[in-house]
Amino acid sequence: MSNTPAQQFLARSHGHWIDGAAVPEGSQGEIVVIDPATEAPIARVAAGGQAEVDRAVAVARRALHGPWGDMTADERTQIMLKFAGLMDAHAETITELAILDNGMPRVIAESCAPFGSMFLRYYAGWTSKITGSTMPSAAQGKRPSQLHAYTLREPIGVVGAITPWNYPFGMEMLKIAPVLATGCTLVLKPAEDAPLAALFMAELASEAGVPAGVFNVVNGLGESAGAAVAAHDDIDKVSFTGSTDVGRIIVRAAAGNLKKVSLELGGKSPVLVYPDANLETAIPGVAMAAFMLQGQNCVCGSRVFAHVSIAEQLAEGIAKFAASMAIGPGSDPKNMIGPLISARQRDRVAGFFDSAAQEGARCLGGGTRVGDRGFFVAPTVYTDCTPDMRIVREEIFGPVLALQTFDKESPEELAAMANDTNYGLSASVWTRDLRTAHTMSRLIDAGQVGVNTHAAMDPTMPFGGFKQSGWGREFGADALELYLRTKAVTVTWD
Ligand code: NAP
Ligand code: MG
Repeated sequence: MSNTPAQQFLARSHGHWIDGAAVPEGSQGEIVVIDPATEAPIARVAAGGQAEVDRAVAVARRALHGPWGDMTADERTQIMLKFAGLMDAHAETITELAILDNGMPRVIAESCAPFGSMFLRYYAGWTSKITGSTMPSAAQGKRPSQLHAYTLREPIGVVGAITPWNYPFGMEMLKIAPVLATGCTLVLKPAEDAPLAALFMAELASEAGVPAGVFNVVNGLGESAGAAVAAHDDIDKVSFTGSTDVGRIIVRAAAGNLKKVSLELGGKSPVLVYPDANLETAIPGVAMAAFMLQGQNCVCGSRVFAHVSIAEQLAEGIAKFAASMAIGPGSDPKNMIGPLISARQRDRVAGFFDSAAQEGARCLGGGTRVGDRGFFVAPTVYTDCTPDMRIVREEIFGPVLALQTFDKESPEELAAMANDTNYGLSASVWTRDLRTAHTMSRLIDAGQVGVNTHAAMDPTMPFGGFKQSGWGREFGADALELYLRTKAVTVTWD
């Protein structure tokens, strides 16, 4: 019998997780979860809307003031460490679910559990380091002997989180771990295209001892369940990861009760390759920056600027690397390019193949759909690109690299080319020259810059965007700020 724990999980009735229990019914019909490699249905998830969000928010509000609110920092740490241990113990199931739910190659799916447990352990260490200060206040004319002034760092309250489908488990964990560390409670609305990770983790959290009502999941469509979270009057903060267009909708919806908002949005990240770069590492590095997760990642290095003297060698090297990437279901470990998430996403990416051809880009490889079952497209390299082409301007969320060249531009001129986008999420500079590396790192308008690496991620390093790529920082100590509020207390006596 090859009935794995992941298959057993898929076969269950799914819906929401509210107040520490599975809720397999929903008021808005159901979501059929598709394996994007085969287009076969793999699970059904009841869809919720306003009613389920109202219920989840009510229990999350109550849980703030229950045993969770009165827990010591160490008790929260221990629960988070136990949750991390469960993520590790279920690593193979998580890998299998990530492949089926999202389509990602096995090598990336295998990172989901360790990524999650590492984040939990990192933030588990923070619970006891969230502290206020004492201040030398002289308010109301009081002397130091008549006054004690201090700040309290309190959980911000009930958090609504809305997440995308591109790296399930990970994208959700970026909300879950700091929410637990700060003592907030959560109502999480996962992406309809990858709704299973959140449910799986809610069960693990419960098993680890997270009290009922602290971590709730409401599945459903963005336009109903997501909109209900964003607009809810009793949610104190909304933490959103997704597209810039939906980010704008979230901001408008949040205006009703002026809930706090953090946004991790899209990108169109520049990659600068200098003539002194080590092309042996730059070629695979730049290729993976563009093609990892089929380009379905916000930090995708989709806009390459190569010095004219090495542009051809770089482009041909990347095209050769792309051609060597096996395309197929993520379940086969040899495949490096899995399917896109949906037929809609595949058609969207194919639309960019058409626009690139019409606008005169030269295709060095790819530019086609692959096979007739599953949502596969080939990793694609375009040269002869110009700044006004759609493939250069728009976030594609597919494995498409657009290469432009530079020659004698000054650092400022080159930075202006790199910064010619509404986004500002990530960037990389490939060079062995210290002056170039540091000068360009300062001039590039992005929340993250890599030198001889692209999109380096670590729980200790703040991550987030400038410009229309977002508000606020996830990862690191910065993420705690999103979930805390500061209260100033002044105590006086005669
Ligand atoms: P999306 O369409 O913006 O969806 C993101 C989430 O918002 C989903 O849960 C979606 O629900 C929900 N949603 C849709 N419409 C909504 C509405 N009117 N009100 C409230 N919620 C709504 O993005 P996506 O296609 O899932 O993900 C791709 C995007 O995410 C890209 O732009 C990418 O760059 C960005 N992203 C950013 C980061 C980062 O850290 N900066 C990381 C990953 C992805 P449905 O699933 O039902 O549509
Ligand atoms: Mg949608």
